[in-house]
Amino acid sequence: MDTASGPISQLIAPAVATIAEHIPRDLTWPMLLLTVCLASGIWLVRGGMGAKSADGCVRRMPFWKFLLPRDIYTHVSAKVDVGLYVFERLLRPLWVSTFFVGITPGTETLAISALEALFGSGPTLQSNLAWMLLYSLVTLLIYDLVFFLIHYSEHKIPTLWAIHKVHHSAEVLTPLTRYREHFLEGPLYAAGAALSFGVAGGIFGWLFNSNISQATLFNLSFFALLFGFNGSFRHYHVAFHYPRWLSKWLHSPVMHHTHHSYLEKHRDTNLAAVTSIWDRLFGTLYVPERDEHTPWGLGPDSQSQYRSFWQNVVGPFRDWADMIRGKRPQAEAPAP
Ligand SMILES: [Zn+2]
Ligand SMILES: [Zn+2]
Repeated sequence: MDTASGPISQLIAPAVATIAEHIPRDLTWPMLLLTVCLASGIWLVRGGMGAKSADGCVRRMPFWKFLLPRDIYTHVSAKVDVGLYVFERLLRPLWVSTFFVGITPGTETLAISALEALFGSGPTLQSNLAWMLLYSLVTLLIYDLVFFLIHYSEHKIPTLWAIHKVHHSAEVLTPLTRYREHFLEGPLYAAGAALSFGVAGGIFGWLFNSNISQATLFNLSFFALLFGFNGSFRHYHVAFHYPRWLSKWLHSPVMHHTHHSYLEKHRDTNLAAVTSIWDRLFGTLYVPERDEHTPWGLGPDSQSQYRSFWQNVVGPFRDWADMIRGKRPQAEAPAP
């Protein structure tokens, strides 16, 4: 017998279940295992070099210290990561279901209507592997562009930087740092993702008419794998470089190490999620040299304002209050 549920729940339940199954997850055991295997490979090939200490410097290390350095995993920043991770995980299903149900179908319909108004009805193509790959790629590029634009705005607009600063207040990088964000940041990215999937779904819905469901499933799984790997490794303290030519197309994990550095030359660089294309176009790409020093966090002037869990939770509100009063946010003020 069916479980009792109202008409609205019946309508959205399959969508939520499908989406939940294909949401990119980067903190999974297979992803962590892959991260550790690749890091072990780097240790072997580079003779113990390649891992960074809490100060962001590369040093030669014995194997276990290389994989799990005590100074990083006992750091106060890593402990705060745990609290913010739990907070983020509790709220995430709310944002994802709200925005995917509230934004994606409407955006998709709007995109189809716009294409019909411009070009007439779609060509009703038959899907094949090449089309599915293209659908994956287009979704990835649109998502990456929207991610870039949100992230760029967060770095450039002071009211948004007040929220995003919480991610940058991490003084060491651990796989949990991926989820270190203020609870007000989750809805921004969930809305961006929902919008991207809606636009891509609209374009391919128009091209394929109703013949699109298989491509959708393939698309999201493919995307989840790429995004998952990248998200998992880029917040790990081991510097994983790609060859320079590949870094111009895809963000290597170490390129996110520089994004978290407070050095002037690294500021506001490498803002996309997966590809390097948008950073190249907007002039924010930075490919670091091997063993480049990347001290993480907000820098000596403001780090003390963002050390504890609660400092990170109330930080944006304190900054906004300062802005309303016409004061420079406390945490931005130069050290005396
Ligand atoms: Zn950032
Ligand atoms: Zn990050």
